[in-house]
Amino acid sequence: MASTPNRNPEIKYTKIFIDNGWHDSVSGKTFQTINPCTGEVICDIQEGDKADVDKAVEAARKAFKRGSVWRRMDASKRGYLLFKFSELLLRDKEHLASLETLDNGKPYEESIADIEASADTFRYYAGWCDKNMGKTIPTDGDFFTFTRHQPVGVCGQIIPWNYPIMMLAWKLGPALACGNTVVLKPAEQTPLTALYCAALLKEVGIPPGVVNIVPGYGPTAGAAIAEHMDVDKLAFTGSTEVGKIVMTAAAQSNLKRVSLELGGKSPLVVFADADMDIAAFWAHSAIMNNHGQNCCAGSRTYVQEEVYDTFIQKAKELAENRVVGDPYDSITQQGPQISDEQFNKIMKLIESGKQEGATLVFGGGRVGDKGYFMQPTIFADVSDDMRIAKEETILKFKTESEVIERANKTHYGLAAGVITKDITKAMSLAQNLDAGSVW
Ligand code: NAD
Repeated sequence: MASTPNRNPEIKYTKIFIDNGWHDSVSGKTFQTINPCTGEVICDIQEGDKADVDKAVEAARKAFKRGSVWRRMDASKRGYLLFKFSELLLRDKEHLASLETLDNGKPYEESIADIEASADTFRYYAGWCDKNMGKTIPTDGDFFTFTRHQPVGVCGQIIPWNYPIMMLAWKLGPALACGNTVVLKPAEQTPLTALYCAALLKEVGIPPGVVNIVPGYGPTAGAAIAEHMDVDKLAFTGSTEVGKIVMTAAAQSNLKRVSLELGGKSPLVVFADADMDIAAFWAHSAIMNNHGQNCCAGSRTYVQEEVYDTFIQKAKELAENRVVGDPYDSITQQGPQISDEQFNKIMKLIESGKQEGATLVFGGGRVGDKGYFMQPTIFADVSDDMRIAKEETILKFKTESEVIERANKTHYGLAAGVITKDITKAMSLAQNLDAGSVW
């Protein structure tokens, strides 16, 4: 049964969450979270910075101490708490999805899907809690050697705005399953669902200090987490530029462990043997989903020369028919971009495409007169050296080996896709494209 969105969800939580309590910022500062549909302020949020991060890390350290409730808790009980949390996400999914759409602008049904996927993530990690096993190692001589998996300690986690609740789930799920404690900073553009989750974690019975949520800006709150001497592990998802900054900060402070999930400029290769309707549909989804604000977006579509014109025609039709507008309306496929800043960045890219001589097949403009709504945009006749080719576009290729070489000519290696009916070709590309995931 379709669920009902609430365009004005009640916003209960706007403060910093430390030690299972709600706190004003030490500095007394707040920041505004903006509705991307209108550009108007949704509410003020307490703005955490270094002093608040220090308090949060102190609480997380205390919760991690030997003998604490969390450290003594049976792994199966930890699993039960994570499982219960996943159930609360589903219980409150309409409210959470309404908040996510308000803060991020993504269509309500996609927010629902994100909440459900987050619940799945927590349920998955709930199962891992008591199955995280070490090994016995056959060594020479009179020794019994084994490994035992220990939690790392206090984990700092910094997440982006494009999938706010899902990024939180991907970070909190594994860290808590392994018995760590956490200080998490949501993106400044989208703090609302993370703060609501804090309240649910408390309701579930996660002990004080195990999860602390500090909303705030990157160069202040984020940097304070990255360079903190008492944070043992840093998990960051966001841009490559900031990834380099936080890795440097981690190295220059206490050499904390770092895991980074960064940007991509992923190739999608369409061979001439593919069904063109299916190819155009998947290529459209690969780049347009989540308003193009997707780390794995197929943003360089390589189409084999003999079907290029047919493909462009189909891609154009899909873009023309894409419904851009009110994200709470069930027919909407695309809401606004996240912010003024991102909107202007995309506009500049479109301008560069036009100036460098690419053909604007469709789109390129603003939709409506308020908020950050943008037409789905398609460029053709693009060469590899144009700025939009390095950022996003549809390109032409002749042979398999040529497309592998061109697709790999990038500093990124996040994801890639191949559309063909020939399984041998698909497997060859899966092996030869330098990407972490190949669809
Ligand atoms: P961003 O790097 O500017 O921001 C991400 C987070 O880092 C935010 O919480 C921000 O406040 C914080 N931050 C900013 N400056 C910081 C600093 N100096 N020190 C510490 N923290 C800082 O990224 P963005 O452009 O806002 O977010 C989108 C990016 O995230 C895109 O590049 C996208 O590809 C990437 N992303 C990657 C994945 C993945 O799994 N690889 C998933 C989602 C998004």
